Amino acid sequence: SPSTPGPGTSGAPVDLAAKAQAAFEGVRAAYLAGRTRPLAWRTAQLRGVEALVREGEAELLAAMAEDFGKPRVEAWLADLAPVAAEAAHVRRRLPRWVRPRPAWPGKANLPGWAFSVPEPLGAVLVLSPWNYPVQLALNPLVAAVAAGNAVVLKPSELTPATSAALARLVPRYLDPEAVRVLEGGPEVASALLAQPFDHVFFTGSTRVGRVVMEAAARHLASVTLELGGKSPVLVARDADLEVAARRVAWGKLLNAGQTCIAPDYALVERAVLPAFVEHLVTAMGQLQGPDPAAGATRIVNDRHVERLAGLLASAEGTVVVGGEVDRERRLVAPTVVLDPDPGSPLMEEEIFGPILPVLGVADLEEAVAFVRARPKPLALYLFTNDRRVEQRVLEATTSGGVCVNHTMVHFLAPELPFGGVGASGTGAYHGRAGFEELSHRRSVVRRPTRPDLPLTYPPFDDRKERW
Ligand code: NAD
Repeated sequence: SPSTPGPGTSGAPVDLAAKAQAAFEGVRAAYLAGRTRPLAWRTAQLRGVEALVREGEAELLAAMAEDFGKPRVEAWLADLAPVAAEAAHVRRRLPRWVRPRPAWPGKANLPGWAFSVPEPLGAVLVLSPWNYPVQLALNPLVAAVAAGNAVVLKPSELTPATSAALARLVPRYLDPEAVRVLEGGPEVASALLAQPFDHVFFTGSTRVGRVVMEAAARHLASVTLELGGKSPVLVARDADLEVAARRVAWGKLLNAGQTCIAPDYALVERAVLPAFVEHLVTAMGQLQGPDPAAGATRIVNDRHVERLAGLLASAEGTVVVGGEVDRERRLVAPTVVLDPDPGSPLMEEEIFGPILPVLGVADLEEAVAFVRARPKPLALYLFTNDRRVEQRVLEATTSGGVCVNHTMVHFLAPELPFGGVGASGTGAYHGRAGFEELSHRRSVVRRPTRPDLPLTYPPFDDRKERW
Protein backbone atom coordinates (compact mmCIF):
# COMPACT_ATOMS: atom_id res chain seq x y z
CA SER A 1 0.00 0.00 0.00
CA PRO A 2 1.33 3.48 -0.79
CA SER A 3 0.86 4.56 2.82
CA THR A 4 3.40 2.05 4.12
CA PRO A 5 7.05 3.05 4.55
CA GLY A 6 8.93 3.91 1.39
CA PRO A 7 12.04 2.66 -0.33
CA GLY A 8 14.86 1.18 1.60
CA THR A 9 12.78 -0.33 4.38
CA SER A 10 12.14 -3.70 2.78
CA GLY A 11 15.52 -4.18 1.14
CA ALA A 12 13.76 -5.01 -2.13
CA PRO A 13 14.07 -2.72 -5.15
CA VAL A 14 11.03 -0.52 -5.38
CA ASP A 15 9.66 1.04 -8.50
CA LEU A 16 9.37 4.62 -7.30
CA ALA A 17 7.52 5.89 -10.34
CA ALA A 18 4.86 3.20 -9.95
CA LYS A 19 4.51 3.90 -6.24
CA ALA A 20 4.19 7.63 -6.80
CA GLN A 21 1.65 7.03 -9.55
CA ALA A 22 -0.39 4.70 -7.35
CA ALA A 23 -0.44 7.26 -4.52
CA PHE A 24 -1.45 10.07 -6.87
CA GLU A 25 -4.10 8.06 -8.67
CA GLY A 26 -5.48 6.73 -5.41
CA VAL A 27 -6.12 10.11 -3.87
CA ARG A 28 -7.24 11.61 -7.16
CA ALA A 29 -9.85 8.87 -7.54
CA ALA A 30 -11.14 9.68 -4.05
CA TYR A 31 -11.32 13.34 -4.99
CA LEU A 32 -13.07 12.69 -8.30
CA ALA A 33 -15.59 10.43 -6.56
CA GLY A 34 -16.60 13.49 -4.52
CA ARG A 35 -15.48 11.95 -1.26
CA THR A 36 -13.54 14.97 -0.03
CA ARG A 37 -16.08 17.70 -0.82
CA PRO A 38 -18.69 17.50 1.94
CA LEU A 39 -18.19 19.73 4.94
CA ALA A 40 -18.71 16.66 7.14
CA TRP A 41 -15.69 14.92 5.60
CA ARG A 42 -13.51 18.00 6.02
CA THR A 43 -14.57 18.46 9.63
CA ALA A 44 -13.90 14.78 10.35
CA GLN A 45 -10.35 15.10 8.93
CA LEU A 46 -9.70 18.17 11.09
CA ARG A 47 -10.95 16.32 14.15
CA GLY A 48 -8.69 13.49 13.05
CA VAL A 49 -5.66 15.81 13.06
CA GLU A 50 -6.59 17.07 16.53
CA ALA A 51 -6.91 13.50 17.83
CA LEU A 52 -3.68 12.46 16.11
CA VAL A 53 -1.75 15.18 17.90
CA ARG A 54 -3.45 14.47 21.25
CA GLU A 55 -3.24 10.70 21.25
CA GLY A 56 -0.02 10.42 19.26
CA GLU A 57 1.78 12.96 21.43
CA ALA A 58 4.07 10.48 23.20
CA GLU A 59 4.99 8.75 19.94
CA LEU A 60 5.72 12.00 18.12
CA LEU A 61 7.73 13.52 20.97
CA ALA A 62 9.81 10.33 21.24
CA ALA A 63 10.41 10.36 17.49
CA MET A 64 11.58 13.99 17.49
CA ALA A 65 13.85 13.31 20.46
CA GLU A 66 15.34 10.37 18.59
CA ASP A 67 15.82 12.35 15.40
CA PHE A 68 17.53 15.42 16.84
CA GLY A 69 17.20 15.50 20.58
CA LYS A 70 14.31 17.93 20.58
CA PRO A 71 13.46 18.70 24.21
CA ARG A 72 9.91 17.59 24.98
CA VAL A 73 8.63 21.00 26.03
CA GLU A 74 10.08 22.74 23.00
CA ALA A 75 8.74 20.06 20.66
CA TRP A 76 5.31 20.27 22.24
CA LEU A 77 5.21 24.07 22.13
CA ALA A 78 6.62 24.51 18.65
CA ASP A 79 5.46 21.38 16.85
CA LEU A 80 2.35 19.83 18.38
CA ALA A 81 0.45 22.69 20.04
CA PRO A 82 0.42 24.85 16.88
CA VAL A 83 -1.11 21.99 14.88
CA ALA A 84 -3.85 21.32 17.44
CA ALA A 85 -4.60 25.05 17.62
CA GLU A 86 -4.67 25.46 13.84
CA ALA A 87 -6.92 22.44 13.23
CA ALA A 88 -9.42 23.56 15.90
CA HIS A 89 -9.38 27.17 14.72
CA VAL A 90 -10.04 26.16 11.12
CA ARG A 91 -12.67 23.55 12.03
CA ARG A 92 -14.74 26.06 14.00
CA ARG A 93 -14.75 28.65 11.23
CA LEU A 94 -14.97 26.37 8.21
CA PRO A 95 -18.80 26.34 7.98
CA ARG A 96 -18.65 30.11 7.41
CA TRP A 97 -15.73 30.02 4.99
CA VAL A 98 -17.28 27.47 2.60
CA ARG A 99 -20.38 29.61 1.98
CA PRO A 100 -20.71 31.38 -1.38
CA ARG A 101 -19.65 35.02 -1.17
CA PRO A 102 -22.00 37.48 -2.91
CA ALA A 103 -20.54 40.16 -5.16
CA TRP A 104 -21.89 43.20 -7.00
CA PRO A 105 -22.74 41.86 -10.48
CA GLY A 106 -22.18 45.19 -12.25
CA LYS A 107 -24.80 47.31 -14.03
CA ALA A 108 -24.51 45.25 -17.19
CA ASN A 109 -25.61 42.16 -15.29
CA LEU A 110 -28.83 43.60 -13.91
CA PRO A 111 -31.09 41.93 -13.25
CA GLY A 112 -28.81 39.21 -11.97
CA TRP A 113 -26.73 37.84 -9.15
CA ALA A 114 -23.01 37.27 -8.72
CA PHE A 115 -21.18 35.19 -6.18
CA SER A 116 -17.96 33.25 -5.76
CA VAL A 117 -17.67 29.76 -4.36
CA PRO A 118 -14.50 28.26 -2.90
CA GLU A 119 -13.97 24.83 -4.38
CA PRO A 120 -11.17 22.29 -3.83
CA LEU A 121 -8.18 22.30 -6.17
CA GLY A 122 -8.12 18.51 -6.35
CA ALA A 123 -5.10 16.33 -5.58
CA VAL A 124 -2.51 18.22 -3.54
CA LEU A 125 1.10 17.19 -2.95
CA VAL A 126 2.64 18.33 0.36
CA LEU A 127 6.44 18.18 0.65
CA SER A 128 7.71 19.04 4.10
CA PRO A 129 11.09 19.80 5.73
CA TRP A 130 12.75 18.35 8.82
CA ASN A 131 13.12 21.36 11.13
CA TYR A 132 9.58 21.30 12.55
CA PRO A 133 8.82 17.88 11.18
CA VAL A 134 5.30 17.52 12.57
CA GLN A 135 3.99 21.05 12.32
CA LEU A 136 5.25 21.72 8.80
CA ALA A 137 3.79 18.43 7.59
CA LEU A 138 0.41 18.67 9.32
CA ASN A 139 -0.44 22.38 9.09
CA PRO A 140 -0.37 22.35 5.28
CA LEU A 141 -2.46 19.19 5.51
CA VAL A 142 -4.98 21.05 7.67
CA ALA A 143 -5.35 23.75 5.01
CA ALA A 144 -5.59 21.16 2.24
CA VAL A 145 -8.31 18.99 3.80
CA ALA A 146 -10.23 22.03 5.08
CA ALA A 147 -10.49 23.15 1.46
CA GLY A 148 -11.72 19.67 0.46
CA ASN A 149 -8.60 18.38 -1.28
CA ALA A 150 -7.15 14.89 -1.40
CA VAL A 151 -3.52 14.80 -0.31
CA VAL A 152 -0.26 12.93 -0.67
CA LEU A 153 2.20 13.96 2.04
CA LYS A 154 5.92 13.31 1.82
CA PRO A 155 7.70 14.13 5.09
CA SER A 156 11.43 14.83 5.24
CA GLU A 157 13.85 11.92 5.16
CA LEU A 158 16.25 13.78 7.47
CA THR A 159 13.99 13.13 10.46
CA PRO A 160 13.29 9.45 9.76
CA ALA A 161 11.73 8.51 13.11
CA THR A 162 9.20 11.36 12.85
CA SER A 163 8.54 10.51 9.20
CA ALA A 164 7.80 6.89 10.18
CA ALA A 165 5.55 8.02 13.05
CA LEU A 166 3.55 10.21 10.66
CA ALA A 167 3.27 7.34 8.18
CA ARG A 168 1.84 5.16 10.98
CA LEU A 169 -0.46 7.76 12.52
CA VAL A 170 -1.95 9.65 9.57
CA PRO A 171 -3.79 6.64 8.07
CA ARG A 172 -5.14 5.82 11.51
CA TYR A 173 -6.73 9.24 12.07
CA LEU A 174 -7.49 10.50 8.58
CA ASP A 175 -9.34 8.97 5.63
CA PRO A 176 -6.73 6.60 4.10
CA GLU A 177 -8.47 6.69 0.71
CA ALA A 178 -7.95 10.41 0.29
CA VAL A 179 -4.91 11.21 2.45
CA ARG A 180 -1.75 9.18 2.01
CA VAL A 181 1.80 9.40 3.29
CA LEU A 182 4.70 8.36 1.10
CA GLU A 183 8.09 8.31 2.81
CA GLY A 184 11.47 8.91 1.22
CA GLY A 185 13.98 11.50 0.08
CA PRO A 186 14.49 13.65 -3.02
CA GLU A 187 14.03 10.66 -5.34
CA VAL A 188 10.53 10.04 -3.98
CA ALA A 189 9.78 13.78 -4.14
CA SER A 190 10.90 13.81 -7.80
CA ALA A 191 8.75 10.78 -8.62
CA LEU A 192 5.76 12.50 -7.02
CA LEU A 193 6.47 15.78 -8.80
CA ALA A 194 6.28 13.90 -12.10
CA GLN A 195 2.61 13.17 -11.36
CA PRO A 196 0.03 15.74 -12.50
CA PHE A 197 -1.03 16.99 -9.08
CA ASP A 198 -3.31 20.03 -9.12
CA HIS A 199 -1.25 21.87 -6.51
CA VAL A 200 2.10 21.47 -4.79
CA PHE A 201 2.60 22.81 -1.26
CA PHE A 202 6.34 22.87 -0.61
CA THR A 203 8.15 23.96 2.53
CA GLY A 204 11.94 23.90 2.36
CA SER A 205 14.96 25.58 0.91
CA THR A 206 14.98 28.19 -1.82
CA ARG A 207 17.22 25.90 -3.89
CA VAL A 208 14.72 23.02 -3.91
CA GLY A 209 11.86 25.52 -4.24
CA ARG A 210 13.16 26.31 -7.72
CA VAL A 211 13.19 22.59 -8.61
CA VAL A 212 9.62 22.23 -7.34
CA MET A 213 8.33 25.25 -9.24
CA GLU A 214 9.89 23.99 -12.47
CA ALA A 215 8.39 20.54 -12.01
CA ALA A 216 4.97 22.02 -11.22
CA ALA A 217 5.18 24.23 -14.32
CA ARG A 218 5.22 21.14 -16.52
CA HIS A 219 1.67 20.34 -15.39
CA LEU A 220 0.71 23.98 -14.83
CA ALA A 221 0.05 22.99 -11.24
CA SER A 222 -0.29 25.91 -8.84
CA VAL A 223 2.26 26.11 -6.03
CA THR A 224 2.69 27.33 -2.51
CA LEU A 225 6.37 27.78 -1.76
CA GLU A 226 7.31 28.33 1.87
CA LEU A 227 11.03 28.97 1.56
CA GLY A 228 13.90 30.28 3.64
CA GLY A 229 16.49 33.01 3.42
CA LYS A 230 18.15 35.53 5.69
CA SER A 231 15.68 37.33 7.98
CA PRO A 232 17.27 40.54 9.28
CA VAL A 233 16.95 42.25 12.66
CA LEU A 234 17.15 46.05 12.75
CA VAL A 235 17.92 47.68 16.08
CA ALA A 236 17.30 51.42 16.34
CA ARG A 237 19.14 53.61 18.82
CA ASP A 238 15.93 54.24 20.80
CA ALA A 239 15.20 50.50 21.26
CA ASP A 240 14.87 48.81 24.64
CA LEU A 241 18.21 47.06 24.19
CA GLU A 242 17.91 44.53 27.00
CA VAL A 243 14.56 43.21 25.82
CA ALA A 244 15.65 43.38 22.18
CA ALA A 245 18.74 41.30 22.90
CA ARG A 246 16.75 38.70 24.85
CA ARG A 247 14.12 38.36 22.15
CA VAL A 248 16.69 38.11 19.38
CA ALA A 249 18.63 35.48 21.34
CA TRP A 250 15.40 33.55 21.99
CA GLY A 251 14.54 33.54 18.28
CA LYS A 252 18.05 32.52 17.37
CA LEU A 253 18.33 29.66 19.86
CA LEU A 254 14.90 28.05 19.53
CA ASN A 255 15.42 24.69 17.82
CA ALA A 256 19.16 25.52 17.75
CA GLY A 257 18.51 28.23 15.17
CA GLN A 258 17.01 25.74 12.72
CA THR A 259 13.90 27.83 12.14
CA CYS A 260 12.86 29.38 8.84
CA ILE A 261 11.89 32.64 10.56
CA ALA A 262 14.84 32.71 12.97
CA PRO A 263 16.55 36.11 13.06
CA ASP A 264 19.49 35.46 10.74
CA TYR A 265 21.64 38.54 11.38
CA ALA A 266 21.36 41.88 13.18
CA LEU A 267 22.04 45.42 11.94
CA VAL A 268 22.49 47.73 14.91
CA GLU A 269 22.95 51.50 15.00
CA ARG A 270 26.57 52.05 16.01
CA ALA A 271 25.60 54.37 18.86
CA VAL A 272 24.09 51.43 20.74
CA LEU A 273 26.15 48.56 19.31
CA PRO A 274 28.39 47.89 22.36
CA ALA A 275 25.45 47.94 24.77
CA PHE A 276 23.36 45.69 22.53
CA VAL A 277 26.17 43.14 22.18
CA GLU A 278 26.69 43.11 25.93
CA HIS A 279 23.01 42.35 26.53
CA LEU A 280 23.10 39.73 23.79
CA VAL A 281 25.97 37.86 25.41
CA THR A 282 24.14 37.86 28.74
CA ALA A 283 20.89 36.69 27.16
CA MET A 284 22.56 33.89 25.22
CA GLY A 285 24.15 32.63 28.44
CA GLN A 286 20.86 32.80 30.33
CA LEU A 287 18.85 31.00 27.67
CA GLN A 288 21.46 28.31 27.32
CA GLY A 289 21.41 27.41 31.03
CA PRO A 290 24.25 26.06 33.11
CA ASP A 291 24.69 22.83 31.11
CA PRO A 292 24.78 23.60 27.36
CA ALA A 293 24.35 19.96 26.33
CA ALA A 294 21.26 19.41 28.47
CA GLY A 295 17.96 20.28 26.88
CA ALA A 296 19.44 21.54 23.62
CA THR A 297 18.12 20.55 20.23
CA ARG A 298 20.98 19.10 18.20
CA ILE A 299 22.00 20.09 14.70
CA VAL A 300 20.09 17.72 12.48
CA ASN A 301 23.05 15.81 10.97
CA ASP A 302 26.83 15.78 10.49
CA ARG A 303 26.63 17.54 7.14
CA HIS A 304 24.88 20.51 8.72
CA VAL A 305 27.40 20.61 11.62
CA GLU A 306 30.22 20.83 9.05
CA ARG A 307 28.30 23.48 7.11
CA LEU A 308 27.98 25.63 10.25
CA ALA A 309 31.65 25.11 11.15
CA GLY A 310 32.50 26.25 7.61
CA LEU A 311 30.35 29.37 7.91
CA LEU A 312 32.06 30.28 11.18
CA ALA A 313 35.52 29.78 9.69
CA SER A 314 34.65 32.01 6.75
CA ALA A 315 33.35 34.94 8.72
CA GLU A 316 36.45 37.03 9.54
CA GLY A 317 34.65 38.91 12.31
CA THR A 318 35.22 38.82 16.06
CA VAL A 319 33.66 35.89 17.88
CA VAL A 320 32.28 37.64 20.96
CA VAL A 321 30.80 34.55 22.54
CA GLY A 322 30.58 30.86 21.59
CA GLY A 323 32.27 29.49 18.50
CA GLU A 324 32.70 25.94 19.82
CA VAL A 325 31.56 23.06 17.63
CA ASP A 326 30.96 19.69 19.33
CA ARG A 327 30.94 17.27 16.40
CA GLU A 328 30.31 14.21 18.51
CA ARG A 329 27.09 15.49 20.03
CA ARG A 330 26.22 17.66 17.03
CA LEU A 331 26.07 20.85 19.10
CA VAL A 332 27.14 24.34 18.08
CA ALA A 333 27.49 26.81 20.96
CA PRO A 334 25.32 29.93 20.84
CA THR A 335 27.62 32.28 18.97
CA VAL A 336 27.78 35.99 18.26
CA VAL A 337 30.09 37.18 15.48
CA LEU A 338 30.68 40.92 15.49
CA ASP A 339 31.22 42.76 12.20
CA PRO A 340 31.82 39.82 9.84
CA ASP A 341 32.73 40.49 6.22
CA PRO A 342 29.36 41.25 4.52
CA GLY A 343 30.58 39.29 1.47
CA SER A 344 31.42 36.14 3.48
CA PRO A 345 29.27 32.98 3.22
CA LEU A 346 28.08 33.71 6.79
CA MET A 347 26.43 36.85 5.42
CA GLU A 348 25.42 35.39 2.06
CA GLU A 349 23.85 32.03 2.98
CA GLU A 350 20.95 31.24 5.30
CA ILE A 351 22.62 30.29 8.60
CA PHE A 352 20.05 27.87 10.03
CA GLY A 353 22.01 27.39 13.26
CA PRO A 354 22.72 29.18 16.56
CA ILE A 355 25.13 31.74 15.10
CA LEU A 356 24.23 35.44 15.03
CA PRO A 357 26.29 37.90 13.01
CA VAL A 358 25.92 41.46 14.29
CA LEU A 359 26.88 44.40 12.10
CA GLY A 360 27.10 48.04 13.06
CA VAL A 361 25.42 50.59 10.79
CA ALA A 362 25.66 54.38 10.91
CA ASP A 363 21.89 54.73 10.97
CA LEU A 364 18.71 52.90 10.01
CA GLU A 365 18.86 54.24 6.45
CA GLU A 366 22.06 52.24 5.99
CA ALA A 367 20.30 49.19 7.43
CA VAL A 368 17.36 49.68 5.07
CA ALA A 369 19.73 49.95 2.09
CA PHE A 370 21.50 46.76 3.22
CA VAL A 371 18.22 44.83 3.36
CA ARG A 372 16.95 46.23 0.05
CA ALA A 373 20.12 45.18 -1.74
CA ARG A 374 19.45 41.53 -0.86
CA PRO A 375 16.71 38.98 -1.73
CA LYS A 376 13.31 39.63 -0.12
CA PRO A 377 13.42 37.99 3.32
CA LEU A 378 10.83 35.73 4.94
CA ALA A 379 10.69 37.89 8.07
CA LEU A 380 12.03 41.23 9.27
CA TYR A 381 12.40 42.21 12.90
CA LEU A 382 12.58 45.82 13.98
CA PHE A 383 13.30 47.07 17.47
CA THR A 384 12.16 50.63 18.07
CA ASN A 385 9.53 52.51 20.05
CA ASP A 386 9.43 55.33 17.54
CA ARG A 387 6.41 55.03 15.25
CA ARG A 388 8.05 57.20 12.59
CA VAL A 389 11.00 54.83 12.43
CA GLU A 390 8.59 51.91 12.23
CA GLN A 391 6.65 53.58 9.42
CA ARG A 392 9.82 54.37 7.48
CA VAL A 393 11.21 50.83 7.74
CA LEU A 394 7.86 49.24 6.85
CA GLU A 395 7.47 51.31 3.71
CA ALA A 396 11.09 51.12 2.60
CA THR A 397 11.50 47.34 2.87
CA THR A 398 9.52 44.21 2.13
CA SER A 399 9.40 40.73 3.70
CA GLY A 400 6.94 37.89 4.22
CA GLY A 401 6.14 39.10 7.74
CA VAL A 402 7.31 41.60 10.34
CA CYS A 403 7.53 41.80 14.12
CA VAL A 404 8.10 45.13 15.81
CA ASN A 405 9.87 44.66 19.15
CA HIS A 406 9.89 40.86 18.97
CA THR A 407 11.00 37.98 16.79
CA MET A 408 8.98 35.14 15.21
CA VAL A 409 5.71 35.78 17.08
CA HIS A 410 3.83 36.96 13.97
CA PHE A 411 3.66 33.24 13.31
CA LEU A 412 1.29 32.86 16.26
CA ALA A 413 -1.46 35.20 15.03
CA PRO A 414 -3.98 32.67 13.71
CA GLU A 415 -5.54 34.96 11.11
CA LEU A 416 -2.36 36.50 9.72
CA PRO A 417 -1.31 34.96 6.40
CA PHE A 418 2.05 33.25 6.87
CA GLY A 419 4.35 33.10 3.86
CA GLY A 420 7.23 34.64 1.99
CA VAL A 421 7.66 37.00 -0.94
CA GLY A 422 9.97 36.61 -3.92
CA ALA A 423 12.94 34.45 -3.00
CA SER A 424 11.42 33.62 0.40
CA GLY A 425 8.30 32.11 -1.13
CA THR A 426 5.00 32.45 -2.85
CA GLY A 427 1.52 32.09 -1.37
CA ALA A 428 0.61 31.96 2.30
CA TYR A 429 -1.32 29.86 4.78
CA HIS A 430 -2.63 29.67 8.38
CA GLY A 431 -6.29 30.24 9.18
CA ARG A 432 -8.46 31.56 6.38
CA ALA A 433 -5.42 32.34 4.23
CA GLY A 434 -4.61 28.62 4.11
CA PHE A 435 -8.19 27.73 3.24
CA GLU A 436 -8.22 30.24 0.38
CA GLU A 437 -4.72 29.21 -0.78
CA LEU A 438 -5.83 25.61 -1.22
CA SER A 439 -9.17 26.54 -2.78
CA HIS A 440 -10.09 27.83 -6.21
CA ARG A 441 -12.48 30.73 -5.91
CA ARG A 442 -14.92 30.07 -8.70
CA SER A 443 -16.97 32.99 -10.02
CA VAL A 444 -20.61 32.52 -10.87
CA VAL A 445 -23.11 34.92 -12.45
CA ARG A 446 -26.75 33.93 -12.60
CA ARG A 447 -29.17 35.87 -14.82
CA PRO A 448 -32.89 35.48 -15.22
CA THR A 449 -33.88 34.49 -18.78
CA ARG A 450 -36.55 37.23 -18.97
CA PRO A 451 -36.44 40.03 -19.89
CA ASP A 452 -34.04 39.11 -22.72
CA LEU A 453 -33.16 42.54 -24.09
CA PRO A 454 -32.33 42.55 -27.82
CA LEU A 455 -30.02 45.55 -27.37
CA THR A 456 -26.87 43.52 -26.60
CA TYR A 457 -27.19 41.12 -29.55
CA PRO A 458 -25.94 41.88 -33.10
CA PRO A 459 -26.55 43.13 -35.67
CA PHE A 460 -25.64 46.49 -34.22
CA ASP A 461 -27.57 48.76 -36.55
CA ASP A 462 -28.24 52.48 -36.32
CA ARG A 463 -31.33 51.99 -34.27
CA LYS A 464 -29.26 50.38 -31.50
CA GLU A 465 -26.65 53.10 -31.71
CA ARG A 466 -29.29 55.78 -31.11
CA TRP A 467 -30.26 53.87 -27.94
P1 NAD B 1 14.99 20.96 1.67
O1 NAD B 1 14.63 21.91 0.59
O2 NAD B 1 16.30 20.31 1.62
O3 NAD B 1 13.91 19.77 1.74
C1 NAD B 1 12.51 19.99 1.82
C2 NAD B 1 11.77 18.83 1.16
O4 NAD B 1 12.15 18.74 -0.21
C3 NAD B 1 12.06 17.47 1.78
O5 NAD B 1 10.86 16.74 1.84
C4 NAD B 1 13.03 16.84 0.79
O6 NAD B 1 12.94 15.43 0.75
C5 NAD B 1 12.61 17.43 -0.52
N1 NAD B 1 13.70 17.54 -1.49
C6 NAD B 1 15.04 17.70 -1.23
N2 NAD B 1 15.73 17.76 -2.38
C7 NAD B 1 14.84 17.65 -3.39
C8 NAD B 1 14.93 17.65 -4.81
N3 NAD B 1 16.11 17.78 -5.43
N4 NAD B 1 13.80 17.51 -5.53
C9 NAD B 1 12.61 17.40 -4.91
N5 NAD B 1 12.45 17.39 -3.57
C10 NAD B 1 13.55 17.51 -2.83
O7 NAD B 1 14.77 21.78 3.01
P2 NAD B 1 15.14 21.31 4.49
O8 NAD B 1 16.60 21.24 4.66
O9 NAD B 1 14.32 20.13 4.87
O10 NAD B 1 14.56 22.55 5.32
C11 NAD B 1 15.31 23.70 5.58
C12 NAD B 1 14.91 24.83 4.68
O11 NAD B 1 13.52 25.01 4.69
C13 NAD B 1 15.48 26.16 5.11
O12 NAD B 1 15.88 26.89 3.98
C14 NAD B 1 14.31 26.85 5.78
O13 NAD B 1 14.38 28.24 5.81
C15 NAD B 1 13.18 26.37 4.96
N6 NAD B 1 11.95 26.40 5.72
C16 NAD B 1 10.97 27.28 5.38
C17 NAD B 1 9.82 27.34 6.13
C18 NAD B 1 8.71 28.30 5.83
O14 NAD B 1 7.64 28.15 6.40
N7 NAD B 1 8.89 29.26 4.94
C19 NAD B 1 9.65 26.48 7.22
C20 NAD B 1 10.67 25.61 7.52
C21 NAD B 1 11.80 25.56 6.77
